[in-house]
Amino acid sequence: MEGLMEDEIPNKVKIFGWRACIEILPTRCNLAKRNLIVETDCPICLHSPETEVHLLWDCPTAQDVWVGSRTKLQKCSLSQQNILHLFEFLMNKLEPKEMELFLVQAWMLWNQRNGALHGGKLKDPRWLNTRAAELLAENAQTKEQLAVIPRDMGGNVWCPPPPPFFKLNFDATIFRERCWFGFRVVIRNEQGEVMVALSTIGPPISSSEEAETLACRKAVEFAVDAGFSELIIKGNSKCYESTFFSKSGPVNLWECGCKYSMAHPWD
Ligand SMILES: [Zn+2]
Repeated sequence: MEGLMEDEIPNKVKIFGWRACIEILPTRCNLAKRNLIVETDCPICLHSPETEVHLLWDCPTAQDVWVGSRTKLQKCSLSQQNILHLFEFLMNKLEPKEMELFLVQAWMLWNQRNGALHGGKLKDPRWLNTRAAELLAENAQTKEQLAVIPRDMGGNVWCPPPPPFFKLNFDATIFRERCWFGFRVVIRNEQGEVMVALSTIGPPISSSEEAETLACRKAVEFAVDAGFSELIIKGNSKCYESTFFSKSGPVNLWECGCKYSMAHPWD
């Protein structure tokens, strides 16, 4: 999976891939192992225990998708021992772009399964395959646009970080009537190339100050999770500047073993 981490796969799909690999998806078998349920049969075909490898590979619904796929998947053999063996088998067989498409298709199969449990209908495999390819293309386009226009979140000209630092820009948007907020995070290298980006909805909040503080904290958590240890951080929130900004140089935000430096406001 390492080689796939710098590509065009949406973050939510990467996270799904990791969860599947280490077998912590809430499949019926995994829930039964934790004594949360008794029934382990696949809710789609009702014929086999629902493990990750069954759900994403052996299940007839999954096979319908793979048979209709444009990649070499249609010629792959059935019956892999477990999900890790399946992923290793596919990574040896597929080109990186094909592996990306497989992961998006698998993620869509998982979503479809969850929808079916709540009364949703199974999609036509051809639709699923077409939509998976579209999602990858859309994600690649977004990433390209972010890379082409090196501006910060406020639309100001973006200043590159000095090596070895990466620069993290973040901002928060508050939806007051719904008491929640959204935030965006982009980490770029000194060339302005986007390393990782995230745009998501945060938890419910009770004030704009809380949203701004949370956005800053979540931006840094995202950076640490993504493996970035030396960062120049720039946000647009007053709270962030008054709470964390320091003119005295590098600041340790949290004691996590990483060095952080706060950007000057005019950066
Ligand atoms: Zn099944």
